Amino acid sequence: MIDFELTDEQRALQQLSREFTANEIAPVAAQLDRGGEFPLDVCRKAFDVGLLTIAIPEQYGGAGLSGLDCLIVREENAAGCAGITTAMGAVDLAATPLRLAGSDDQKKAFFGQITSEFGLASYALTEPDAGSDVAGIKTKAIKHGSEYVLNGTKRWITGAAYARWLVVFAYTDAARYRDGLSAFIVPSDTPGVRVTRKEDMMGQRASATCEIVFEEARVPAANLLGGEGAGFKIAMGTFNFTRPGTAIAAVGLARCAMDHAVRYAADRVVLFLRLLGMRVASGESDLSVPERPAALFGHAGSRHAAGHRRRVAQPPGLACRLAQ
Ligand SMILES: Cc1cc2nc3c(=O)[nH]c(=O)nc-3n(C[C@H](O)[C@H](O)[C@H](O)COP(=O)(O)OP(=O)(O)OC[C@H]3O[C@@H](n4cnc5c(N)ncnc54)[C@H](O)[C@@H]3O)c2cc1C
Repeated sequence: MIDFELTDEQRALQQLSREFTANEIAPVAAQLDRGGEFPLDVCRKAFDVGLLTIAIPEQYGGAGLSGLDCLIVREENAAGCAGITTAMGAVDLAATPLRLAGSDDQKKAFFGQITSEFGLASYALTEPDAGSDVAGIKTKAIKHGSEYVLNGTKRWITGAAYARWLVVFAYTDAARYRDGLSAFIVPSDTPGVRVTRKEDMMGQRASATCEIVFEEARVPAANLLGGEGAGFKIAMGTFNFTRPGTAIAAVGLARCAMDHAVRYAADRVVLFLRLLGMRVASGESDLSVPERPAALFGHAGSRHAAGHRRRVAQPPGLACRLAQ
């Protein structure tokens, strides 16, 4: 039988994350969501207690947590605010391609920038005309001597306005389709890199997703990750590690919604009766049942990603539908 019991260390991590959520995320969640404000202070505090760069290996200054440990943190954080959780998670989303495909020198240089002191990073894959269809992106990176010149537009990039560096996916050889896709680390202060818009979103408003434009942006060839043509595999490998995080955030959000609903039903009196005792509130048991399989899917997904590097497409689907 598969055992999902947490170890004592994992329970301590869960408790730390729960307290962080209660003290630092929940109190500002509504305000940041309303204003669509990026949670810079929350991220800074998360960095200070070791809950920001959690998936970066210890040897490069991160917490070096396992896939399951990261999910424990995400679930607890999302029970306070899914948008703030997405903003915090952007760092690990950007760190994963570097962890999977970076050289030791690249890891030292770029992980060091966000582990030796507080700093953020972003993952720039999605474009106005390409999201799920990763190979449909249009951004190009053409080699000139010891540099690549990037041109294109990325959209829906979490925290891009606050990132020190971005992992950017671009075609080095569009004729080779997926095999012509490459990934680069691009310092955000590179001339020709501009954040041009912040989305006015329906939900997760605190995550501040941005549009970012690359116009003749020159990047050293040394910033290429894993060689020309490795980009598609790097993108897919990254999703295998990070999609369970999206799934478990939906579980945390559903748990939070459930807590609010139960508290409301316990207080609300209609026709001299508390709502909780009435038939209309019996949805509690209906909701709590699918929450568990969704959490299991999230945890199981992370184990597959960590152990077998298989595609992890289904867990986010189930858990996200539950949160809706
Ligand atoms: C809060 C938020 C933060 C984000 N942060 C980032 C980020 O930091 N970096 C980044 O690169 N991107 C980011 N994204 C973008 C996200 O990765 C894309 O939204 C996602 O890849 C889907 O792309 P799309 O929105 O273009 O939808 P589409 O690809 O247009 O899909 C639309 C619908 O069609 C379905 N669909 C698509 N293809 C198929 C198919 N073959 N078969 C059946 N159904 C299909 C999809 O499931 C979806 O329901 C973010 C998005 C959000 C909402």
